[in-house]
Amino acid sequence: MLEDKSPQRTSLENLGEFGLIKHLTQHFELKHESSVHGIGDDAAILDFGEKKTVVSTDLLVEGVHFDLSYMPLKHLGYKSVVVNLSDIYAMNAKATQITVSIAVSNRFPLEALEEFYAGMALACKMYNVDLVGGDTTSSTKGMLISVTAIGVAEKDEIVMRSGAKTNDLLVVTGDLGGAYLGLQVLEREKEVFKVNPNSQPDLEPYSYIVERQLKPEARKDIVELLEKLEVKPSAMIDISDGLSSEILHLCEQSSVGCNLFEDKIPLDPTVISTSEEFKMDSTTIALSGGEDYELLFTIDQADYPKIKANPNLTVIGHMVDKQEGAHLITRGDTKIGLTAQGWNSFSE
Ligand SMILES: [Mg+2]
Repeated sequence: MLEDKSPQRTSLENLGEFGLIKHLTQHFELKHESSVHGIGDDAAILDFGEKKTVVSTDLLVEGVHFDLSYMPLKHLGYKSVVVNLSDIYAMNAKATQITVSIAVSNRFPLEALEEFYAGMALACKMYNVDLVGGDTTSSTKGMLISVTAIGVAEKDEIVMRSGAKTNDLLVVTGDLGGAYLGLQVLEREKEVFKVNPNSQPDLEPYSYIVERQLKPEARKDIVELLEKLEVKPSAMIDISDGLSSEILHLCEQSSVGCNLFEDKIPLDPTVISTSEEFKMDSTTIALSGGEDYELLFTIDQADYPKIKANPNLTVIGHMVDKQEGAHLITRGDTKIGLTAQGWNSFSE
């Protein structure tokens, strides 16, 4: 698939490392005042004045985190940036800069990397962040991507995982389970393609969930919305691994328990129909699917009137005393212990 997209194949050896970085980053402009100096010296210079800086890093490995047989490189570039920005927004901060390092084998021509950087450039534009540094090197096999995201916030704006209190409401943005099911659809089509390379998959009915997998968005808008609504969450985390494990992180770091209500978990109609098609339970998918990059946060009950009318925000439960533990209350009113894998139907 890589070859089909890039008829011209310029070998990376012709450019050298510095020529390559210069070539790939030449159209990236610095937009933020805090980006004093970007690419071109030993290190970038950032100046945030009196504010607090937040930093987060991710490493993505071909074959482990992404599959280039159905992931176009432009989408991969976009997603690599977005998943890191999500961690900055989860601190209730504004993302301002990224650094990107890649290692690629010689199976990647320059044109493939240009596609990847075009996706990153789009993400930088959409999320208003500056690319200020990075590294490129060779790998013996496949592609590795490391992105570091930097953000800024006033000291009293920052929200950590540790501030949730008993009786706080548990709120989630958007809807859950789409990214995981999108991946299932893509994996299925890949298997069909292996058997019959002439098959033309009709992904139209699945466009929402496939997009959730291939081109996820981070919830920059929610950080801005909460500021406008004058709501500061008591604790927050982004949903990269599935609702269940993120709830357990909040509970553990805040020393509280949680009651999560199955009938409140927001699901897109495509998620419901596709999980039926795959004979999977949609609640299990939302709890343990992952890669949705929504925000999960807790608020004081007094703030409920400020958020209740907003279609982006759903109250899915509330925090309880630590001794009570973390549970899913099912539609049938059964109380089941939450586990990092989703929920354990055999406990209690
Ligand atoms: Mg995170």
